[in-house]
Amino acid sequence: MRNIQISKPAIGKEEIDAVTAVLKTGNLSQGPLVKELEEKFAAFCGSKYAIALNNGTATLHTALYALSVGRDDEVITTPFTFVATANAILMQGAKPVFCDIEEKTFNIDPTQIESHISKKTKAIMPVDLFGHIYDVEAIGRIAKKHSLPVVEDAAQSVAARYKGRKAGNVAEIASFSLYATKNMTAGVGGLLTTNDEKVMKKCKLFRHHGQDESATYDYKEFGYNYRMLDMTAAIALEQLKKIEGLTEKRRLNAGYLNEGLQDIEGIILPVEREGYRHVYHQYTIRITKDYKLSRDAFIARLGAKGVQCKIYYPKPLHLFPHLMTYGYKKGDFPVAERLAGEVVSLPVHPLVTKDEIQWIVECIRNI
Ligand SMILES: *Cc1c(COP(=O)(O)O)cnc(C)c1O
Repeated sequence: MRNIQISKPAIGKEEIDAVTAVLKTGNLSQGPLVKELEEKFAAFCGSKYAIALNNGTATLHTALYALSVGRDDEVITTPFTFVATANAILMQGAKPVFCDIEEKTFNIDPTQIESHISKKTKAIMPVDLFGHIYDVEAIGRIAKKHSLPVVEDAAQSVAARYKGRKAGNVAEIASFSLYATKNMTAGVGGLLTTNDEKVMKKCKLFRHHGQDESATYDYKEFGYNYRMLDMTAAIALEQLKKIEGLTEKRRLNAGYLNEGLQDIEGIILPVEREGYRHVYHQYTIRITKDYKLSRDAFIARLGAKGVQCKIYYPKPLHLFPHLMTYGYKKGDFPVAERLAGEVVSLPVHPLVTKDEIQWIVECIRNI
């Protein structure tokens, strides 16, 4: 029987050899490969600086710290994302102020952002959900008008583009993740990009207990231990060489799915807005009430055919206990709540073959 998984890391001999080589040098902590990764990743994104950290959540946290977001401040973000987005805000003692999303891209709805801005607002943190960059122009305009920085949660959007600019170079700060399921992976890890030298320096202190790179045991300020290992950087450097090819394969698979699944009543396919390059971290469709089966039944049917589908995300963040303590309740963000009940992601990653895509299409067509 077929077994088409929703995600699978594309790890080859290159990554394995690179890790082995690091182990042989005996350099098990942050070292020269981390520096090389920072230089190459910044160049890839077209940003001035990149800072490597130990995971994507730490990276978001570091970004907010570098912008001096602190206790009782507010950060506007989307409730339709992985919980790390909101938890990073909580880690700085600030409040996640949620704003509803737009149906088309699943991303934060720029037309609703201004109604959430208050004197306490310190930043806007959109997420490039499923690999589609947020509405750069509209949100950039609002941010400029209110003198607020934009922190891009780009955990899912490495290599995505907006009019020739890459994810990581459309906002003041961007935060990437190298977690096992991401488009570019090292199992775990994070990368922050910025064009601001002051921000870069603050991030580097924060990840190393307030120590700069030259002087150790000189704690210039409070910090965490958020450093990346050279072994992690070794894997990420190999992945960086492949990311364009891996992205093209994802886009190809998404194109086949778009073609095969069009015009099915009750199913809405993902959208790539004009001027944007979607990198399909997930290929997410919507099973609406007009479809002949419930979403659960749809997932079960495909599961029985060896096609693993998954729901990202079954419940928006404002309905979880630790965030409801801020006064959020059901009905606050109707679009996010409705879409959470409709979405399902199909396998699209680079190791899914054309034959497997055809199988997925056939299984859905035969329902
Ligand atoms: C994966 C992810 C993160 C955090 O990444 P980790 O590396 O797992 O800490 C943050 N935000 C979003 C949207 C993510 O998908």
